[in-house]
Amino acid sequence: MALVRPRTTADVAAALAIAHEHRVPVVVRGAGSGLAGAATAPPGSVVLSTARMTGILELDPVERLAVVQPGVVTADLRAAAAQAGLAYPPDPGSVAFSTIGGNVATDAGGMCCVKYGVTGDFVLGLEVVWADGTVSRTGRRTVKGVAGYDLTSLLVGSEGTLGVVTEVTLRLVPAPPPALTLVATFGTLTAAGEAVGALVGAGLDLSALEVMDRTTLTAVDDLTGMGLASGAGPDRRTPAAMLLVQSDSPAAAEVLARAAALCTDAADLAVAEDPAEGEALMEARRQALPALERLGDWILDDVCVPRSRVVALLQRVEEVAAAEGLVIGVFGHAGDGNMHPTIVHDRSDPASLAAAQRAFDAITTAALDLGGTITGEHGVGRLKRSWLARELDPGTLAASRAVKAALDPHGILNPGAVL
Ligand SMILES: Cc1cc2nc3c(=O)[nH]c(=O)nc-3n(C[C@H](O)[C@H](O)[C@H](O)COP(=O)(O)OP(=O)(O)OC[C@H]3O[C@@H](n4cnc5c(N)ncnc54)[C@H](O)[C@@H]3O)c2cc1C
Repeated sequence: MALVRPRTTADVAAALAIAHEHRVPVVVRGAGSGLAGAATAPPGSVVLSTARMTGILELDPVERLAVVQPGVVTADLRAAAAQAGLAYPPDPGSVAFSTIGGNVATDAGGMCCVKYGVTGDFVLGLEVVWADGTVSRTGRRTVKGVAGYDLTSLLVGSEGTLGVVTEVTLRLVPAPPPALTLVATFGTLTAAGEAVGALVGAGLDLSALEVMDRTTLTAVDDLTGMGLASGAGPDRRTPAAMLLVQSDSPAAAEVLARAAALCTDAADLAVAEDPAEGEALMEARRQALPALERLGDWILDDVCVPRSRVVALLQRVEEVAAAEGLVIGVFGHAGDGNMHPTIVHDRSDPASLAAAQRAFDAITTAALDLGGTITGEHGVGRLKRSWLARELDPGTLAASRAVKAALDPHGILNPGAVL
């Protein structure tokens, strides 16, 4: 194993030219926060870290774009855009430490997707170093542009298997007003799921629609001391689920009043009119995974189903948890149908590990059966490589292999990931 820490595109090109010539595997690493094992380098690899490529090269308010090196931390770009009166919306839960290169290579989602879309929706163009060390530019800086095949979109989400991204041109948007937040709690998880259907079906201008179940709320409380699970009403029973509903519309108060009226089965409803309070609630939601990690060993799923099937997915997760006798915490981007059932188990106990693996298989299968996908935002990586043929048809798989062979003929870029 060797580590390369380039500062420039020329450094990356030189490293790849050598690796190509000597057939050495190269695994690019941003912050290493990916959740599908895509940046986990097999023995004998060169790890190419982007930790020194942290330049924000350009931030243009007229063209509403930013040009950055891949190692820029997502939150740093968001802060720089905000200083210019603009916004870079993509906000994975890992926003404080993930890198733009990693976000591009996984097409990262986050809380904002229900309104603004995923990372790829903001990528205008890329500088890429192909496997043999050749440097190219894909895409554009203009608002529109359709010259040739869309190689930018091909590279977005390619998890370091087709080329190394060395520069990213990103679209920015005018900064929206601070969001207001509605908190709705429910007596059952499926009641929360039904409210999600009502909210997305109503076409409201929502900028986040997140869910946490009882297990997650309790774990977040144990980590943060926020008291989310303490419940409302005289008996102060812990809710089965909580929805966090945000709107950054100029008419947010009105939007959230309409949203509250649609949560007919809610046990409790409250609007956080202070944006700081709303941000604290979203920060609690970002702590969902770190909180659940403390319960034991865990396997995290990342399934995404049509929004009309969220309730069916949640019911299936509850059935699987009961059948296997496991705790499965559920949180996720409910407004996108993107759920992260987190299967808690004891890896040192073979029976518990086997039950967790069966639960993971059952939930991922359920997502496919419901017309969904094996991965909404974390990517295939190494975790779901064996699942890809369950989702893609043979023609698409063959075309994908042909693309990989054309761009990386010696298969040096992230071998063992995705395909
Ligand atoms: C607490 C927590 C919350 C999270 N929340 C979300 C969420 O809400 N939404 C979401 O989508 N993800 C989420 N993630 C997953 C993860 O943060 C994202 O996938 C993120 O985009 C990975 O960025 P990274 O810099 O850590 O990339 P890494 O993990 O280092 O790499 C990920 C992949 O990108 C490739 N790569 C990295 N840089 C480049 C480059 N310059 N060129 C080519 N390939 C490259 C790597 O080879 C690897 O295949 C979360 C993770 C954690 C730990």
